[in-house]
Amino acid sequence: MSYLGFYKIFSTSVVGVMTYVASLSHPVASVGGINDPIYKPGMIYAPILMYHHVAPKIGDNPYYVSPDIFEQQMAWLHDNNYNVISLDKFYNSIYGDELLPSRPVVLTFDDGAKDHYLNAYPAMKKYGFTGTFYIITNDVGGRGFMSWDMLKEMVRDGMDIQSHTVHHPNLAAAGEDENRLELAKSKKVIEEKLGTTVKHLAYPGGAYSDTTIKVLEELGYLTATTVKHSQYHSPDISNYEIPRMHIDSDMESFAGFVTGRRKD
Ligand SMILES: [Zn+2]
Repeated sequence: MSYLGFYKIFSTSVVGVMTYVASLSHPVASVGGINDPIYKPGMIYAPILMYHHVAPKIGDNPYYVSPDIFEQQMAWLHDNNYNVISLDKFYNSIYGDELLPSRPVVLTFDDGAKDHYLNAYPAMKKYGFTGTFYIITNDVGGRGFMSWDMLKEMVRDGMDIQSHTVHHPNLAAAGEDENRLELAKSKKVIEEKLGTTVKHLAYPGGAYSDTTIKVLEELGYLTATTVKHSQYHSPDISNYEIPRMHIDSDMESFAGFVTGRRKD
């Protein structure tokens, strides 16, 4: 990195410096290996990975990652010294003054499918990883979805259960009352059932409006994640418009998505 590049990080982000300096603690792995992160001056590297189903792939459906590939992806993160962090840690570091560890990665899962409990959770536990599971409260316990008992067990193991609304509507098309119901009720139900605090939302289909953001703020949500692709973050990006990386059932593209070599 040029002196100018380093200066730009230094002048724009203390967290960026800490992340950059932390990367030097892996001197052997930091010489530009294919599995090393690519840092961007002025931005904070901390990819949030987005999964949907972790189950045997159905045709070309991009929303399925097969369980054996998922296990390989967890092993890859472990073997390449990536540090899986919670969404709270992510928020407190990007928007607050906590320091990120080197090679930070967040794992997120949308929709509350039962295969998260059956296939993702055991593989994560094996490596001591935790993640955020965004659930649709009206679907909990339904066919193909996790039950409250499964979610309680996961919470006991450090998994983070957050909101993906009550009914998975298009929040961009919904009026203020519907936005408020979807965001307030899902938060309340999860908090009552699990005894946890809900402060993070994933927008169904990535759709939201200014009204959605206004209601999120009123209700005390700290973050909302989108489906815009980027591995890089900044306090200048709204905490209600946080990008994530869609992950598919492939090891080569996985390495590209995690390291920053691939965007789409
Ligand atoms: Zn969804």
